[in-house]
Amino acid sequence: MHPIDLAAFWPGYEVVACRQSTHDTLLISLEPQAERLPICSRWAKPNPLIHEQHIRQVRDRDLQDQRVLLQLPVRRVDCLYCGRVSERIDWLAPASRLPRKA
Ligand SMILES: [Zn+2]
Repeated sequence: MHPIDLAAFWPGYEVVACRQSTHDTLLISLEPQAERLPICSRWAKPNPLIHEQHIRQVRDRDLQDQRVLLQLPVRRVDCLYCGRVSERIDWLAPASRLPRKA
């Protein structure tokens, strides 16, 4: 068991795997919680029409002496209002491809 509740760092997601990628890098795989619908990044409303998803890898804040890489599916949705857009993930800053600091 990890002493830290990892899931608390990434709201709406759960940790499905956590493994040592290199001696100083942790690779953490996240999956969206089942009840969490993707949210349109423009309209900010939950959207059930998932078009596709791709796995994105982002660097997160270090955890003690470990670099942290996150792997998570980012979904594209067919929004009724905006068309095809990426979902919004609140803790993930789209520009930098790095999570915002809490
Ligand atoms: Zn929309």
